[in-house]
Amino acid sequence: MGVLEKAYLSSPVFLQSVILNAKALELYFERYGRKFEQVYEEFNRNQYLSPAELVEYQSRKLRQLVAHAYHTVPYYNRVFKAHGVKPADIDSIEDLHKLPVLTKQDINTHFNDMISTAVNRKKLRKGHTSGTTGTPLNLLYDIHTCVVHHVADRRQKEWAGMQWGQVYASLQGRVICPPAQSKPPFWRKNYINNQLFLSSFHLKKDYLQSYVDKLHGDGIEFLEGYPSTVYTLASFLNASGHQLPLKAVLTSSETLFDWQRSAIERAFDCRVFDFYGMAERVVYASECKAHAGHHLNSDYGISEFLDDDGRPVPVGQVGKIVATGLHNFAFPLIRYQTNDSCSLQQVSCDCGCSFPLMGDVATKNEAIITLPDGRWISPSVLTHPFKPMVNIEESQIIQSDLHTIEVKIVKKKDYSRADEQLLLKGLRDRLGDDVDIDISYVDSLERTRSGKFKWVKSAIKPNFNL
Ligand SMILES: [Zn+2]
Repeated sequence: MGVLEKAYLSSPVFLQSVILNAKALELYFERYGRKFEQVYEEFNRNQYLSPAELVEYQSRKLRQLVAHAYHTVPYYNRVFKAHGVKPADIDSIEDLHKLPVLTKQDINTHFNDMISTAVNRKKLRKGHTSGTTGTPLNLLYDIHTCVVHHVADRRQKEWAGMQWGQVYASLQGRVICPPAQSKPPFWRKNYINNQLFLSSFHLKKDYLQSYVDKLHGDGIEFLEGYPSTVYTLASFLNASGHQLPLKAVLTSSETLFDWQRSAIERAFDCRVFDFYGMAERVVYASECKAHAGHHLNSDYGISEFLDDDGRPVPVGQVGKIVATGLHNFAFPLIRYQTNDSCSLQQVSCDCGCSFPLMGDVATKNEAIITLPDGRWISPSVLTHPFKPMVNIEESQIIQSDLHTIEVKIVKKKDYSRADEQLLLKGLRDRLGDDVDIDISYVDSLERTRSGKFKWVKSAIKPNFNL
């Protein structure tokens, strides 16, 4: 946690609002300036291009990206040469297979060589991923990539029926107020984006009514969050026999199960619009009002669905997603191997958008942590303390009883005591002081019998029968 965040958490609520809004204002100009308008118009047109026009769009962007990477990114120059590939060999997306796949390991090993020499490194923005296996990855973006991401985000919100400037609430990973806080407000208002941040760390039975009252009192019509956090609120409403009608709920970052979707739709009397994206900014897929699957945003990136031998799987069959981001020229990710699997669907959608549809993404399937004071902590919010941890190879969180949380770590060689302190602090900020957090070091992590990896396991089953 940085100095600013510390200052934020120890400030009175009024000052927290000032700090939060000052940061939001700074980001607002960066994300939503004139560049935003240009990309927004372009992306608005893109969604109505024909399938052939979209392939042409992707091929054109790919040619530019590959030539740029070859000439200005030392890593790609080396790797392309080693594979005997020149930019002229990549004419369309059909030629992608000529290029090698990029792994997380490659990025970690060659990080400095992956930055384009044509950009000013100081102007780049940092990104992190904790990854679904808990292996963190550092990334860099130029401003353009950030703008493109916010345009895609805006388009998704518009598909869900939201107008520009309309008030909405977010129930995601941000630490809004101290974990020990035991009475409202568990929220802060971002006036710049007309957004109400709700704490995901105070979801317990005693507090949930205050969340509902706040959403109702503020006339919130749109709610975004993780499936698990929104589901907690929905379960509370359903158990109480009340509804809180909204216009739409937007979910992301975890698998949205059908039982969660139906509980959320019942509680909020509206449809759920799920979307799938990642910090690597290579894939963005979003549900439209037809709810026939996730539209793979063709103008954002190129996704391939491959079998274990790297061959494309037939349409309808599940394959590993390997994706190329079309906009980050500062730190290009070409044929990046994600941890997720999915299938491409044959059907076209009634909504008028030609972006292909994909099926359900197999990604995180983790357990929720239940704390002694009754708070439920979503696995997605627990990824945040791991994001700055570059010296961790892999991690796993196991709750064996109500008071004990074990964190297993596979260290990298530069891991130090300072890393341990930083991680512990990040976890304490979210879990509070009522649980023992034991960090232990292991050579490898356990997989389930089917070979799957569960990042968060808990012996305590959350009781949503409120
Ligand atoms: Zn559609």
